[in-house]
Amino acid sequence: MKALVKKHARPGLWLEDVPEPEIGVNDVLIKVDRTGICGTDLHIEMWDDWAQKTIPVPMVVGHEFVGEIVEVGSNVHDFFPGEIVSGEGHVVCGHCRNCLAGRRHLCADTMGIGVNRPGAFAEYISVPMSNVWHHSPEIDLDIASIFDPFGNAVHTALSFDVLGEDVLITGAGPIGCMATAICQYAGARYVVVTDVNPYRLDLARTMGATRVVDVRNERVADVQKELGMKEGFDVGLEMSGNENAFREMLENMCHGGKIAMLGIPDHEIPIDWNTVIFNMLTIKGIYGREMYETWYKMTVMVQGGLDIAPVITHRFHASEFQKGFDAMRSGECGKVILDWKE
Ligand code: NAD
Ligand code: ZN
Repeated sequence: MKALVKKHARPGLWLEDVPEPEIGVNDVLIKVDRTGICGTDLHIEMWDDWAQKTIPVPMVVGHEFVGEIVEVGSNVHDFFPGEIVSGEGHVVCGHCRNCLAGRRHLCADTMGIGVNRPGAFAEYISVPMSNVWHHSPEIDLDIASIFDPFGNAVHTALSFDVLGEDVLITGAGPIGCMATAICQYAGARYVVVTDVNPYRLDLARTMGATRVVDVRNERVADVQKELGMKEGFDVGLEMSGNENAFREMLENMCHGGKIAMLGIPDHEIPIDWNTVIFNMLTIKGIYGREMYETWYKMTVMVQGGLDIAPVITHRFHASEFQKGFDAMRSGECGKVILDWKE
């Protein structure tokens, strides 16, 4: 089968013929229909420090996908060929304390699809049945293919109550833009979104931001005044990984404000801890998605009318993957979809 492989320990990805994955008794074999490119895939393609430390070569990459089940292992009784499914990208250990308690997203020993085990940028992928999510028929296939990053957005945005609250989102990448739509759907009052990229700020506006802020030439504190806010944001969603963004968020929270941190900084960030202490802020780290509460919420919100389709801005056939990665690198994009059907 064709697959996008990190074949050599240097920048690039290679579209190669590789053997079809074999399935074990507990596995499900899925014919991949379409996939989303994640920032992680771009790190692997560019072969940055993180990728060099993390990715064993060769490795089939990619983890955002939707496809059709073609075969199931002998121990699999809840999934059947022909069903449309996605895969949860984190394969948990199943026997640590958190896993046993049903808090699988808190597993301390996860494996990443397309990171530590063969991924979804391929014609077929094999995943354990415990990682398969069965899509409801009314979920559009494009949306289904990005349930993984959509889930990051939902997990973060719904970490704290947003009904009637003022929300600050730092970073209008695909996840920040999806979080914007989710917060509006969930009843937030104001959703203010910051970035340094005009294309992405436009996208955030399209997806429902009350106000977008280009922090190269505007301050969040001034926007608070403009909106008539007196006490700061109730909820902060950090989705940039940028230290200045995080600091400005800390300065603009209300007393007792709650921050969910998804963005991954590439270095340590010193902050003024007195702000956290005297303003009594709560800071919660977010990793992945809750299994499978987040997936359930995504499904129900889409069924209820949440529209995240505008976040998909580009699509290419897998044979043109390079164009997809170029779009990602440019920053002038939302989600980029790769089609794996002939
Ligand atoms: P992205 O890199 O596409 O988006 C980040 C955005 O932040 C970009 O649009 C960038 O222009 C913007 N930005 C840069 N400097 C800024 C500043 N000073 N102020 C405001 N915005 C600024 O990433 P994404 O795919 O949307 O993901 C968002 C973040 O979440 C990334 O850091 C990613 O690594 C991280 N992530 C975490 C998890 C997790 O499980 N914790 C999962 C997926 C992604
Ligand atoms: Zn575990």
